Amino acid sequence: MVEPIGLNQKMLQVRALADGKGFSSDQTRIWEMLALIHTEVAEATDAYKKGEPMEHVGEELIDAIIRILHLVSALDLDAEALFQEKMKKNWERPYKFNTVRGG
Ligand SMILES: [Mg+2]
Repeated sequence: MVEPIGLNQKMLQVRALADGKGFSSDQTRIWEMLALIHTEVAEATDAYKKGEPMEHVGEELIDAIIRILHLVSALDLDAEALFQEKMKKNWERPYKFNTVRGG
């Protein structure tokens, strides 16, 4: 059980929703869950391309976050700890790390 702080609070909310609405968190679904994260990013891309309101683009990005948090929960990972560790690592990198052609 993860400590309910920071990003873990949102992850636990997402997991409660997934469980409450009958969506499996079984690790046999990992490939499917990874694919569904891509579909939400594609939906955001499509909404942006079509000139839809930014709120719709944002809604699709939130869908991606929700699906990512569901997957992180299904993998029994500590989202907050991983987030803090990765942010620390990224802050320690040099300015424009790994950037040759922009990005
Ligand atoms: Mg969506």
